Amino acid sequence: MSEKNPKLILPDIPDLHKLDVYKQNGGYENFKKALKMTPDEIIDELKTSGLRGRGGACFPTGLKWSFMPKESDKPTYLAINGDESEPGSFKDRLIFEANPHLLIEGILIANYVMKNKAGYIYIRGEYHKWVNLMQKALDDAYEAGFVGERMKETFGTDFSTEIYVHKGAGAYICGEETSLMNSLEGLRAYPRFKPPFPAQKGLWGCPTTVNNVETIATVPVILGMGGEAYSKIGAEGHTGTLLYGVSGHVNKPGVYELETGMTLREIIYDVCGGVPGNKKVKAVIPGGSSMPPLTGDELDVPMDEESLKKVGTHIGTGGIMVMDEDTDIVKITLRIAHFYHHESCGQCTPCREGCGWMEKILKRMVAGDATSQDLDLLLSVCDNIEGNTICALGDAAAWPVRGFVQKFRSEFEARVKKSRSFQALNVVHGRRDTAETLVVDN
Ligand code: SF4
Repeated sequence: MSEKNPKLILPDIPDLHKLDVYKQNGGYENFKKALKMTPDEIIDELKTSGLRGRGGACFPTGLKWSFMPKESDKPTYLAINGDESEPGSFKDRLIFEANPHLLIEGILIANYVMKNKAGYIYIRGEYHKWVNLMQKALDDAYEAGFVGERMKETFGTDFSTEIYVHKGAGAYICGEETSLMNSLEGLRAYPRFKPPFPAQKGLWGCPTTVNNVETIATVPVILGMGGEAYSKIGAEGHTGTLLYGVSGHVNKPGVYELETGMTLREIIYDVCGGVPGNKKVKAVIPGGSSMPPLTGDELDVPMDEESLKKVGTHIGTGGIMVMDEDTDIVKITLRIAHFYHHESCGQCTPCREGCGWMEKILKRMVAGDATSQDLDLLLSVCDNIEGNTICALGDAAAWPVRGFVQKFRSEFEARVKKSRSFQALNVVHGRRDTAETLVVDN
């Protein structure tokens, strides 16, 4: 393990996805270690490590686990969120493919701590290959007696738990934790009102914790090295390594395990080989399409949640999307707005209608049909969506639109001005529809 950027989740070990190779490299030893600790000791270890959720919200994992009831007259559950449907996010599939037993070991530890009856690995519906790979690893673990009733004999413990792979329902909203639970229950994936929170009333009305795949896969690593040692990796306040999915205008896109706290510039130029054609970076979305963008002048920001918050964005899922100087920002914003409009479940009016309005306004801008009032109207729609919806999809739709307008306002204004002169020209040529638009505009 090198000092800088240790490969904790995706080590360079050939065939690590195979159970025998995983065992030869210390696999399932950290679960044995966990069985000698009390649940509270393990939670304290996670709190010491500083582990924060890797699915976007960055919530402290140890604290989240502590919300589960210590005693419950109902069964309790773990749902592992591998829905990964956000554009720009594609890192969890590497865990399913390259290190699935690390995830299974993490689930065993989590279920031991929270006394969960079962864990459900919810995998994006389109990930056929990865569903099969994960199922194969789970079958091998069952066969070896590492999961299920036989684990009592294997590990010499009273504790046992079940694990299931569940194929997702094929919509972005399935990755929202409460709709994921509805989907698991066989219902339509509508987000639920909170409270009650999942730890109070989750799957089938029972206490449930929902964690991201990478979060759970990090747990055995922390038990192996100790929370104190883990807390020294990466940035203070957001420790450890992250799986960054880097896409867009870089020479070497892909998934990279890197310490938190590296700057975007280091990731783009030192790790990903820079921008094709040596073009300048115009914009970067740092954590999947729902996050507000940064400009090419902000590449020296460290990639950790606290540093990104200071510049008005978030680390999200670590999906870094790089856009070069030739990128049409208005078209990119329209593309993102189209996605969220398409994926809105329609339960709440601000999201259902607002996402549609944002897309329509942006379409007008791209088509050269926008008025100068459209820019303010667009921002006003963002204001009316944000914070006024059942789930975070509303915010996820509004944040990038507002962020692009704020940081690249001149590009949007140029589109409006261009469309106004275009309309004026059409008035000269007697086109009634654009003349009406001009009247509205003035
Ligand atoms: Fe559905 Fe959008 Fe409301 Fe979420 S915010 S519940 S996706 S309509």
